[in-house]
Amino acid sequence: ADHDGVTSDYSINVESKNTTYSNEYIESKYTYEMNDCQVDQNTKRVKIIPRKYHYTFRTKRQVQRTGVMLVGWGGNNGSTFTGAIIANRGNIAWMRKEGEQRPNYYGSLTQSTTIRIGSNDEGKEVHIPFNTILPMLHPNDLVIGGWDINESNLYEAMRRACVFDYELQEKLKSAMSQLNPLPSIYYPDFIAANQEDRANNLIPKGSKQQDLEHIRNDIREFKKAHNLEQIIVLWTANTERYVDVRAGLNQTSEEILQSIAANQDEISPSNIFACAAILEGCPYINGSPQNTLVPGIMDLAKKHNVFIGGDDFKSGQTKMKSVLADFLVSAGLKLQSIVSYNHLGNNDGKNLSAPQQFRSKEISKSNVVDDMVGANHLLYNKKTNEHPDHVVVIKYVPFVKDSKRAMDEYISSIFMNGLSTIAIHNTCEDSLLASPLIIDLVILTELMTRITYKTNNQDEYQSFESVLSILSYLLKAPLVPPGTPVINALFKQHRCITNILSACAGIAMDTDMLLEYKTT
Ligand code: NAD
Repeated sequence: ADHDGVTSDYSINVESKNTTYSNEYIESKYTYEMNDCQVDQNTKRVKIIPRKYHYTFRTKRQVQRTGVMLVGWGGNNGSTFTGAIIANRGNIAWMRKEGEQRPNYYGSLTQSTTIRIGSNDEGKEVHIPFNTILPMLHPNDLVIGGWDINESNLYEAMRRACVFDYELQEKLKSAMSQLNPLPSIYYPDFIAANQEDRANNLIPKGSKQQDLEHIRNDIREFKKAHNLEQIIVLWTANTERYVDVRAGLNQTSEEILQSIAANQDEISPSNIFACAAILEGCPYINGSPQNTLVPGIMDLAKKHNVFIGGDDFKSGQTKMKSVLADFLVSAGLKLQSIVSYNHLGNNDGKNLSAPQQFRSKEISKSNVVDDMVGANHLLYNKKTNEHPDHVVVIKYVPFVKDSKRAMDEYISSIFMNGLSTIAIHNTCEDSLLASPLIIDLVILTELMTRITYKTNNQDEYQSFESVLSILSYLLKAPLVPPGTPVINALFKQHRCITNILSACAGIAMDTDMLLEYKTT
């Protein structure tokens, strides 16, 4: 393959005794090396014991016929995601003042990025499309459905979103106007009061247990109607307020199911959707900041061996922050203050103008530099939990619609206590940032359902942990299995995905050493 000519219709073939291909599986033997460290405060020594763990990864080659059910389908993200996939599927072109435009998948890790896998005979680097490293679902093949508390069809929803150019909206009209969100659950206490006039597409009023059964039935019906092998349920509805987390309410799987049965006030709509998905064996992804995935739901997912992921799409400002803070702290500069302003004029902004919903967002945006700060105790005193000041402001300005403005100021102490101030201004349609993340979340989750592993002393293959922390790259406040580290730094998150997939494919991962060019 020429170094720049590998396209998505190529397949890779690894020639090694550690990688075997059968009709059904790609199997790869992989040795994971890590350092076991023992820090002795008395002798001031760090003892390092390199360890090796032997894994066999097994990836099913046949992608599943997959549906995605969006909660909040009629929102800006839901309608943009749907319209973009229909446009890509049909290669629908449209005109605007700059000339003819064609659909693309820019911003999607799986569709628009490459992975360096090595070099060719001429010493040129070879990059392959991300989606050729292992068999992956294509977004054009997704069957899309979902729920919304608002009755607008997807054409009306797309118009209301003001994201696509007018001619594209018109070209999508016939397809989009046939798509109607299923009625949903609305408990007014959880989203802003200003959303009330949207709630005109609700399932019949009943108990929370009935709501759970209703949603489970919707999932089953969708699966049957479209003859699907896999369904992924993804929350892209309004941000809810936090729910209480306490013993007796939602700490264990028994508690959460009992609380639903008892019609507890503190059970949110997203709690119901997450439980319904898990009980139907469908992965559930939380694209919003609220704490849907309480310990009881994590427990339920583990018991049912179903994947969950969250929280909150990492689309713009936070993505930048998780790069910039990493850069500054890694460069030995002491980041002291981060102030982030946002203003936006879409319905998400309207909902976030209420204090409790803003609070959910504020929490999810606020911990993103913790791991980078925590990794450098030369700059930040661990004992006093020293931390940069970090303030997040969000304002609702209807006029700018989906075109969010994000302004950030970073102040760092530099050499000999000089100060360096960096200011960033970003203007961008919010939904054009979030929709490719929805695509990636779904595609990577479907892939993870086809990967199993075993270690040398296990007989049976098993799935990864039910909390899919491999999705961290795409999420602002990554959910991880209890007691495991949260990684926010963007390129670490990126390497985590590409390295795990490389291991499963049986190819040596890119260490960036490029020794082949540095040695003779
Ligand atoms: P939106 O307000 O346009 O869409 C949300 C939709 O959810 C609305 O159509 C609403 O009617 C519906 N809804 C509310 N409660 C519901 C329920 N219980 N069941 C079903 N539908 C319900 O918002 P958006 O811009 O599409 O964003 C969606 C979510 O994604 C928000 O929570 C937002 O914070 C989050 N998010 C967005 C971005 C981004 O860049 N766009 C980034 C991170 C997170």
